[in-house]
Amino acid sequence: MYSVTKTVVISAAHFLPGHSGKCKNMHGHNFKITVTLINKGILYETGMKKGMVEDFGTIKKTIMFLDHTLLNDHIQNPTAENIARYIANRFGNCERVEVEETPGNVACYTP
Ligand SMILES: [Zn+2]
Repeated sequence: MYSVTKTVVISAAHFLPGHSGKCKNMHGHNFKITVTLINKGILYETGMKKGMVEDFGTIKKTIMFLDHTLLNDHIQNPTAENIARYIANRFGNCERVEVEETPGNVACYTP
């Protein structure tokens, strides 16, 4: 089995409706997002992705549309956990997504 792992950082705002603490107010983070995609079978056999599970640039593009946005416009209650699941669901072959909201605080989703 092959896998590829890509890490990107996005700057984005969010707020957590219903949270009893300060996270209910809009604020921002530099979210460090690490995505691992797997390929249980053959890699791309032709074209620019020949020999790849997925092009790293394609993975980046699939995430970067969230950069400099309000995450609540895309994800209901965008906790790090929900962000991880949302990103995982954008890929058909995702093994794992990690979202580091602040250094040392990481949520992980495994489909
Ligand atoms: Zn936050």
